[in-house]
Amino acid sequence: MAVYHGPACRLCRREGEKLFLKGVRCDTIKCPFEGEKTRTNPPGQHTWRKKPTDYGLHLRESQKMKRLYGILDKQFRRYVKEAGRMTGNSSENLVILLERRLDNIVYRAGLALSRRHARQIITHGQIRVNGRKVTKPSYQLSEGDEVSAKPVERINNLLTENLETRKKQGITAPSWVSVQEKPLVKANVLQLPSLDEASHAFKTNLVIEYYSK
Ligand code: SF4
Repeated sequence: MAVYHGPACRLCRREGEKLFLKGVRCDTIKCPFEGEKTRTNPPGQHTWRKKPTDYGLHLRESQKMKRLYGILDKQFRRYVKEAGRMTGNSSENLVILLERRLDNIVYRAGLALSRRHARQIITHGQIRVNGRKVTKPSYQLSEGDEVSAKPVERINNLLTENLETRKKQGITAPSWVSVQEKPLVKANVLQLPSLDEASHAFKTNLVIEYYSK
């Protein structure tokens, strides 16, 4: 599946807020949103901010959601379609589908420093789901699934280091994921998240409306 490989900070500047796409750097002075000389203007030559139109508001919310989870439009459309087919509230279904992605859970459990980093760890074959190797970042986890490191000391130490770094940043796993550090690093999906437990407070109804036009 195609992914965006361009500059990450540009995406945050376009959305006008921090999306935490670069791991440790996002908490340092190197982040354009930090320090005295912030650079939070949108990228590009003609970057004046006009009052957004109704369409613009819908578009920006959709872009923000895709950028935060690191998904391109084609795949995102499929998630929106599937959320609409599922029973219940489409907004909540969409958030659940995105939060259940393996790369998201590896990141939110603290085993990786960013979603991009999680994606790299997964595609390099360093993650096991219920003891089996999974190399697909979009793999959907279910309640009760267990995510662990490849049973090699070096990989286990690497994920433990990531966990320590995230802790130092004051970031811990959400209530719906439990993390075990010793003897081997593991994360368990206790239950599926609700809309309030998403990584970011999205206006998901705008996203659903945007894709239903
Ligand atoms: Fe976004 Fe992180 Fe870049 Fe800051 S450092 S603009 S939060 S990607």
